[in-house]
Amino acid sequence: MVCEVNPKILPETDNSCGIDLGIIDFATFDNGEKVKAPKPLKSKLKRLRRLQKHLSRKQKGSKRREVTRNKLAKLHAKITDIRTDFLHKLSTKVIKENQLIALEDLNVSGMVRNRKLSRTISDLGWRSFRTMLIAKGEMYGRDVRIINRWEATTQTCSCCGEKGGKKELSVREWTCLFCKTKHDRDVNASKQILKVAGGQLDTQNGLQRECKTTIKACPFG
Ligand SMILES: [Zn+2]
Repeated sequence: MVCEVNPKILPETDNSCGIDLGIIDFATFDNGEKVKAPKPLKSKLKRLRRLQKHLSRKQKGSKRREVTRNKLAKLHAKITDIRTDFLHKLSTKVIKENQLIALEDLNVSGMVRNRKLSRTISDLGWRSFRTMLIAKGEMYGRDVRIINRWEATTQTCSCCGEKGGKKELSVREWTCLFCKTKHDRDVNASKQILKVAGGQLDTQNGLQRECKTTIKACPFG
Protein backbone atom coordinates (compact mmCIF):
# COMPACT_ATOMS: atom_id res chain seq x y z
CA MET A 1 0.00 0.00 0.00
CA VAL A 2 1.46 3.34 -1.01
CA CYS A 3 0.80 6.31 1.19
CA GLU A 4 0.96 9.62 -0.61
CA VAL A 5 1.86 11.77 2.40
CA ASN A 6 5.14 13.55 1.95
CA PRO A 7 7.38 12.21 4.70
CA LYS A 8 8.15 15.52 6.34
CA ILE A 9 6.97 17.36 9.40
CA LEU A 10 3.75 19.22 8.81
CA PRO A 11 3.60 22.79 10.07
CA GLU A 12 1.31 23.25 13.06
CA THR A 13 -2.09 24.71 12.37
CA ASP A 14 -4.90 26.17 14.43
CA ASN A 15 -7.56 24.43 12.37
CA SER A 16 -9.71 21.70 13.77
CA CYS A 17 -12.54 19.64 12.40
CA GLY A 18 -15.33 17.36 13.50
CA ILE A 19 -16.31 14.56 11.14
CA ASP A 20 -19.57 12.67 10.99
CA LEU A 21 -19.37 9.48 8.95
CA GLY A 22 -22.49 8.48 7.10
CA ILE A 23 -24.05 6.49 4.30
CA ILE A 24 -25.49 9.19 2.04
CA ASP A 25 -22.37 11.29 2.44
CA PHE A 26 -19.27 9.41 3.45
CA ALA A 27 -18.02 12.28 5.58
CA THR A 28 -19.67 15.49 6.75
CA PHE A 29 -17.47 18.18 8.25
CA ASP A 30 -18.45 20.73 10.87
CA ASN A 31 -17.98 23.54 8.34
CA GLY A 32 -20.74 22.02 6.22
CA GLU A 33 -18.52 20.35 3.65
CA LYS A 34 -19.72 16.93 2.54
CA VAL A 35 -17.72 14.26 0.79
CA LYS A 36 -19.39 11.43 -1.05
CA ALA A 37 -17.86 8.01 -1.58
CA PRO A 38 -16.53 7.60 -5.14
CA LYS A 39 -19.31 6.81 -7.58
CA PRO A 40 -17.54 3.99 -9.47
CA LEU A 41 -17.36 2.25 -6.14
CA LYS A 42 -21.11 2.15 -5.77
CA SER A 43 -21.79 0.72 -9.21
CA LYS A 44 -19.03 -1.83 -8.77
CA LEU A 45 -20.42 -2.91 -5.43
CA LYS A 46 -23.74 -3.59 -7.12
CA ARG A 47 -21.99 -5.68 -9.75
CA LEU A 48 -20.15 -7.51 -7.00
CA ARG A 49 -23.40 -8.58 -5.35
CA ARG A 50 -24.73 -9.78 -8.67
CA LEU A 51 -21.64 -11.84 -9.38
CA GLN A 52 -21.73 -13.32 -5.91
CA LYS A 53 -25.29 -14.41 -6.52
CA HIS A 54 -24.36 -15.91 -9.88
CA LEU A 55 -21.48 -17.78 -8.33
CA SER A 56 -23.67 -19.39 -5.72
CA ARG A 57 -25.96 -20.68 -8.46
CA LYS A 58 -23.21 -22.22 -10.57
CA GLN A 59 -22.37 -25.87 -10.21
CA LYS A 60 -19.29 -26.61 -8.13
CA GLY A 61 -16.27 -27.57 -10.22
CA SER A 62 -17.85 -26.30 -13.42
CA LYS A 63 -15.99 -24.16 -15.91
CA ARG A 64 -18.57 -21.39 -15.74
CA ARG A 65 -18.13 -21.21 -12.01
CA GLU A 66 -14.40 -20.82 -12.49
CA VAL A 67 -14.99 -17.94 -14.94
CA THR A 68 -17.34 -16.19 -12.52
CA ARG A 69 -14.87 -16.72 -9.70
CA ASN A 70 -12.10 -15.05 -11.69
CA LYS A 71 -14.34 -12.12 -12.58
CA LEU A 72 -15.26 -11.77 -8.92
CA ALA A 73 -11.64 -11.78 -7.77
CA LYS A 74 -10.72 -9.07 -10.29
CA LEU A 75 -13.66 -6.94 -9.26
CA HIS A 76 -12.75 -7.35 -5.58
CA ALA A 77 -9.25 -6.11 -6.26
CA LYS A 78 -10.55 -3.16 -8.26
CA ILE A 79 -12.99 -2.15 -5.52
CA THR A 80 -10.29 -2.36 -2.87
CA ASP A 81 -8.06 -0.12 -5.01
CA ILE A 82 -10.71 2.54 -5.56
CA ARG A 83 -11.72 2.56 -1.92
CA THR A 84 -8.19 2.59 -0.52
CA ASP A 85 -7.20 5.40 -2.85
CA PHE A 86 -10.23 7.47 -1.83
CA LEU A 87 -9.68 6.87 1.89
CA HIS A 88 -5.97 7.67 1.66
CA LYS A 89 -6.54 10.92 -0.19
CA LEU A 90 -9.27 12.08 2.15
CA SER A 91 -7.44 11.13 5.36
CA THR A 92 -4.26 12.83 4.15
CA LYS A 93 -6.17 16.01 3.30
CA VAL A 94 -7.81 16.05 6.72
CA ILE A 95 -4.52 15.44 8.54
CA LYS A 96 -2.71 18.10 6.53
CA GLU A 97 -5.34 20.76 7.15
CA ASN A 98 -6.17 20.19 10.80
CA GLN A 99 -4.41 19.98 14.14
CA LEU A 100 -7.37 18.48 15.99
CA ILE A 101 -9.56 15.94 14.26
CA ALA A 102 -12.63 14.61 16.03
CA LEU A 103 -14.53 11.47 15.09
CA GLU A 104 -17.24 9.44 16.67
CA ASP A 105 -16.54 5.97 17.94
CA LEU A 106 -17.91 3.40 15.53
CA ASN A 107 -19.78 0.40 16.67
CA VAL A 108 -21.07 -0.80 13.37
CA SER A 109 -22.45 -4.12 14.48
CA GLY A 110 -24.10 -2.75 17.58
CA MET A 111 -25.31 0.48 16.05
CA VAL A 112 -26.89 -0.95 12.98
CA ARG A 113 -28.82 -4.14 13.40
CA ASN A 114 -30.02 -4.02 9.83
CA ARG A 115 -27.69 -6.46 8.06
CA LYS A 116 -27.94 -4.83 4.68
CA LEU A 117 -27.11 -1.46 6.17
CA SER A 118 -24.15 -2.71 8.18
CA ARG A 119 -22.78 -4.35 5.05
CA THR A 120 -23.03 -1.04 3.22
CA ILE A 121 -21.20 0.61 6.09
CA SER A 122 -18.34 -1.85 6.08
CA ASP A 123 -18.19 -1.51 2.29
CA LEU A 124 -17.68 2.20 2.65
CA GLY A 125 -14.64 1.71 4.84
CA TRP A 126 -15.38 3.81 7.91
CA ARG A 127 -13.13 1.61 9.97
CA SER A 128 -10.21 1.84 7.56
CA PHE A 129 -10.69 5.58 7.41
CA ARG A 130 -10.45 5.89 11.16
CA THR A 131 -7.39 3.63 11.27
CA MET A 132 -5.70 5.75 8.60
CA LEU A 133 -6.48 8.99 10.43
CA ILE A 134 -5.06 7.65 13.69
CA ALA A 135 -1.91 6.32 12.00
CA LYS A 136 -1.29 9.49 9.99
CA GLY A 137 -2.13 11.64 13.01
CA GLU A 138 0.55 9.88 15.03
CA MET A 139 3.02 10.15 12.20
CA TYR A 140 2.51 13.88 11.71
CA GLY A 141 1.83 15.03 15.24
CA ARG A 142 -1.89 15.66 14.81
CA ASP A 143 -4.44 15.15 17.54
CA VAL A 144 -7.03 12.59 16.43
CA ARG A 145 -9.74 12.14 19.05
CA ILE A 146 -12.43 9.51 19.03
CA ILE A 147 -15.43 10.43 21.13
CA ASN A 148 -17.79 8.07 22.86
CA ARG A 149 -20.78 7.16 20.78
CA TRP A 150 -23.07 7.68 23.75
CA GLU A 151 -22.62 11.40 23.45
CA ALA A 152 -25.80 11.56 21.34
CA THR A 153 -24.39 13.85 18.71
CA THR A 154 -27.39 13.67 16.44
CA GLN A 155 -29.77 14.55 19.25
CA THR A 156 -28.03 17.57 20.67
CA CYS A 157 -28.32 21.04 19.17
CA SER A 158 -24.79 22.27 18.45
CA CYS A 159 -25.88 25.87 18.98
CA CYS A 160 -27.64 25.82 22.33
CA GLY A 161 -26.71 22.37 23.63
CA GLU A 162 -30.31 21.30 24.28
CA LYS A 163 -31.28 17.73 23.51
CA GLY A 164 -33.90 17.48 20.82
CA GLY A 165 -34.71 13.79 21.20
CA LYS A 166 -34.00 10.74 19.08
CA LYS A 167 -34.20 11.13 15.33
CA GLU A 168 -34.81 8.43 12.77
CA LEU A 169 -32.20 8.02 10.06
CA SER A 170 -34.64 9.44 7.52
CA VAL A 171 -34.75 12.81 9.27
CA ARG A 172 -32.12 14.81 7.38
CA GLU A 173 -32.98 18.28 8.69
CA TRP A 174 -34.46 19.49 11.90
CA THR A 175 -35.12 22.70 13.76
CA CYS A 176 -34.14 23.08 17.39
CA LEU A 177 -37.23 23.68 19.53
CA PHE A 178 -35.23 25.74 21.98
CA CYS A 179 -33.12 28.14 19.90
CA LYS A 180 -34.95 27.67 16.57
CA THR A 181 -31.74 26.94 14.69
CA LYS A 182 -32.31 24.90 11.54
CA HIS A 183 -29.86 22.01 11.33
CA ASP A 184 -28.63 19.68 8.68
CA ARG A 185 -28.53 16.44 10.64
CA ASP A 186 -24.96 15.46 9.74
CA VAL A 187 -23.45 18.93 9.93
CA ASN A 188 -24.94 19.37 13.39
CA ALA A 189 -23.56 15.96 14.42
CA SER A 190 -20.05 16.82 13.22
CA LYS A 191 -20.17 20.16 15.03
CA GLN A 192 -21.23 18.37 18.17
CA ILE A 193 -18.48 15.75 17.75
CA LEU A 194 -15.87 18.49 17.55
CA LYS A 195 -17.35 20.23 20.54
CA VAL A 196 -17.32 17.11 22.70
CA ALA A 197 -13.80 16.19 21.58
CA GLY A 198 -12.53 19.66 22.38
CA GLY A 199 -14.03 19.44 25.83
CA GLN A 200 -15.62 22.84 25.34
CA LEU A 201 -19.21 22.04 26.00
CA ASP A 202 -19.97 25.41 27.61
CA THR A 203 -18.41 27.73 25.05
CA GLN A 204 -20.66 28.10 22.11
CA ASN A 205 -18.90 30.89 20.22
CA GLY A 206 -16.71 29.90 17.36
CA LEU A 207 -18.76 26.83 16.81
CA GLN A 208 -21.55 28.88 15.34
CA ARG A 209 -19.24 30.53 12.90
CA GLU A 210 -19.90 29.40 9.38
CA CYS A 211 -16.86 28.82 7.25
CA LYS A 212 -16.55 28.48 3.52
CA THR A 213 -13.70 26.01 3.35
CA THR A 214 -12.26 23.17 5.38
CA ILE A 215 -9.68 25.57 6.67
CA LYS A 216 -11.33 27.30 9.57
CA ALA A 217 -10.38 29.12 12.70
CA CYS A 218 -9.95 26.85 15.67
CA PRO A 219 -12.77 27.48 18.12
CA PHE A 220 -10.60 26.16 20.95
CA GLY A 221 -7.35 27.92 20.22
ZN1 LIG B 1 -30.78 24.83 19.90
